[in-house]
Amino acid sequence: MTPPFRVAVVGCAGRMGRMNLTTIHATEGCVVAGGSDQPGSPAIGADIGGLIGVDPLGVTVTDDPVELFAQADAVIDFTTPEATRRHAGLAAQAEVVYVVGTTGLAPEDQAVVEQAAIQTVVIQSANMSLGVNLLQILTEQVAKALDADYDIEIVEMHHRHKVDSPSGTALMLGQAAAAGRGVNLDDVACRARDGQVGARPRGEIGFATLRGGDVPDEHSVIFATEGERLELSHKAGSREIFAKGALKAALWGRGRHPGLYSMRDVLGLAD
Ligand code: NAD
Repeated sequence: MTPPFRVAVVGCAGRMGRMNLTTIHATEGCVVAGGSDQPGSPAIGADIGGLIGVDPLGVTVTDDPVELFAQADAVIDFTTPEATRRHAGLAAQAEVVYVVGTTGLAPEDQAVVEQAAIQTVVIQSANMSLGVNLLQILTEQVAKALDADYDIEIVEMHHRHKVDSPSGTALMLGQAAAAGRGVNLDDVACRARDGQVGARPRGEIGFATLRGGDVPDEHSVIFATEGERLELSHKAGSREIFAKGALKAALWGRGRHPGLYSMRDVLGLAD
């Protein structure tokens, strides 16, 4: 009999952390290998079953990620950029499949993740849903088909607790639009507007960020010219799609060669 696939969750008391635990627990062939959160979190020492509203699992939340990585086949990380830097190093040491959903990474955080991918399988995406990964492809195709007479604006809305802006997904869509147009996003991005900013420069890719309530995740890419407007949109109904995507990525990564992979690879959408 194949032994169960042991999946651990760092940041397991968070919104995505709990959803990841719930998804692993409900998936045949997978077991919750453990969960961690930051020192001082009220969840430390609690049984993971209680955290997700099921019977006790006999596994408690730890603040020691070293131990956690040692007892897992895969680790799912939706935390903060600072925590992800540490976790990426531990994933490389332990050579576990490492799934990174954390957004807002600075270039130096990203470099640590890429370094880890030399030694182990890393799957990273700012958005683990099938719909957004398709939206990314469509955005690139439409941007390629239309010239700079079409102004590209990316609008996103998230719940009031989100800490990074624009969202990682909005930036991912911006990258896709820029790639379609054959330009570098950093050269054409306008990440916020305020005051007497003047007329919109031709070729700009603009971002607008809305925050409020409990919205899990909404993104639209707008292509606007004189006389018509094309809009591509995605709305997540719940966080479950991200957790299902993250676990799918972990399972896909089992037995692969070390490297940095994306959800497009997992979903078979890469070119
Ligand atoms: P959250 O604040 O609810 O959860 C983060 C958790 O990480 C908290 O429990 C926090 O205590 C914990 N944490 C912080 N430092 C830690 C450390 N050093 N060790 C262990 N745990 C630590 O946030 P969230 O809404 O769950 O989002 C988390 C991240 O996931 C954000 O960057 C968000 O943008 C991203 N996200 C990505 C996707 C995707 O599909 N890739 C989807 C949703 C959210």
